Amino acid sequence: MDVLTRVPVREQEPAVRAANFEEVCLGYNEEEAMAEAARCLNCKNAQCMKGCPVSINIPGFIAEVKEGNFEAAYHVISESSALPAVCGRVCPQESQCEGSCVLGVKGEPVAIGKLERFVGDWKIENADKMPAPDIKRNGHKVAVIGSGPSGLACASDLARMGYEVKIFEALHKVGGVLVYGIPEFRLPKEKIVAREVEAVKKLGVEIETDVIVGRTVTIDELMNEEGYEAVFIGSGAGLPRFMGIPGENLNGVVSANEFLTRTNLMKAYDTHYDTPIYVGQRVVVVGGGNVAMDAVRTAKRLGAEATIVYRRSEKELPARVEEVHHAKEEGIEFRMLTNPTSIIGDEKGWVVGISCVEMELGEPDESGRRSPIEKAGSDFEIPCDVVIMALGTSPNPLLKMTTEGLETNRKGCLVADEKGATTREGIFAGGDAVTGAATVILAMGAGRKAAKSIDEYIRQKKH
Ligand code: FAD
Ligand code: SF4
Repeated sequence: MDVLTRVPVREQEPAVRAANFEEVCLGYNEEEAMAEAARCLNCKNAQCMKGCPVSINIPGFIAEVKEGNFEAAYHVISESSALPAVCGRVCPQESQCEGSCVLGVKGEPVAIGKLERFVGDWKIENADKMPAPDIKRNGHKVAVIGSGPSGLACASDLARMGYEVKIFEALHKVGGVLVYGIPEFRLPKEKIVAREVEAVKKLGVEIETDVIVGRTVTIDELMNEEGYEAVFIGSGAGLPRFMGIPGENLNGVVSANEFLTRTNLMKAYDTHYDTPIYVGQRVVVVGGGNVAMDAVRTAKRLGAEATIVYRRSEKELPARVEEVHHAKEEGIEFRMLTNPTSIIGDEKGWVVGISCVEMELGEPDESGRRSPIEKAGSDFEIPCDVVIMALGTSPNPLLKMTTEGLETNRKGCLVADEKGATTREGIFAGGDAVTGAATVILAMGAGRKAAKSIDEYIRQKKH
């Protein structure tokens, strides 16, 4: 194996996996991981670390993998990341660590994500053999709202510091987008997410599900009546956007959030469950991010012909490169430079097609991406029975509406400073609730940063 070429990773065959919900990528075994780790040049001025949003000591953990010291590798990663088995699977490595790896200049960058996943999985498999931390409780209570990556990371750091932490989760399952959004075929729920959650509970974190803070209980009640000295809000950005085009109220138009929640959280794909889901024969998914790729690949697995409609070109697709590659292998059709103008219904109010217009790219907009412009007279129709809107999400306004003094910006995101402190004393926030829809690693990093700030805040209050 030459140093410029990656150790190939085993995957399910496209034709097989397009009809099941099992994980696509099978990951490295020990020998493969050690061989891939041996490609790392252990650069002194490691560019990969600069590309990682939480600055994992990448050459440090890879050097341990190379020697077969997997527990040591885990300890190196865990200084910076609480969820390596998750982030190794879902981070956009091509634009982060791997995008900066020097080996990528002439060949293939080190498979940093796959190695991180290997170490995270190794830790999950061997957790029982690792000594449980001996934590002394300090008698101070902190409430965490939301059990996504930001809430889990914040809660576990605070628990390690000795705080009594309770997570309040609106849904009946713990994990946020990791359970209700990202499908099983990318992130296994029982094998990975549930076991990461168990590890958080082992630190002493209590988790109560089916509690909608703002409805079941307010933040003020938690702080004034239940004795929580600080609150972390990690409530995410689960409110879907629609286009505002004619026909969006027809039967057969759904948000990607609803479609994915029915399949992932409520197991609509499993015939043992009663969750209803309407897929039809032809599904069009509007959007080009990870959410769109997850929705379209789920629709394909449920038996539909599935198409992506995206208004920019392939170069601008915001989804992870690996997901786009996998989607293509699985037979997903991509209609690039195409924008919907209306959804067409039959006399009974069911979707029968989507009217679109062709686009071309103009000057770059404020996001730096070239803006799509309509080509006059290029209208056409795509016949379909279901349209799934995957156009982005924003935070739910409930907590702002029910908590005096909690400010949001014009996009509905909570206002928080660089330490995660919101505009209300004792209330901290992080993750998608602050940034708008972003990434797991950023949410996890924000949760950890807020845990530090909460500790400082409570210590200061004591004096
Ligand atoms: P969330 O994960 O959204 O968790 C918030 C939790 O708070 C939820 O469980 C919610 O039920 C709960 N909650 C909300 N309001 C309340 C309340 N009032 N009371 C109690 N609980 C409440 N990122 C990547 O890095 N890579 C990917 O490949 C990727 N793919 C994605 C695919 C999909 C389909 C989606 C939807 C997102 C994807 N993301 C991906 C984005 C990533 O998952 C999010 O950025 C991340 O999960 C945000 O974490 P969070 O903790 O801020 O919020
Ligand atoms: Fe290893 Fe690439 Fe990072 Fe250099 S940049 S330390 S080769 S992973």
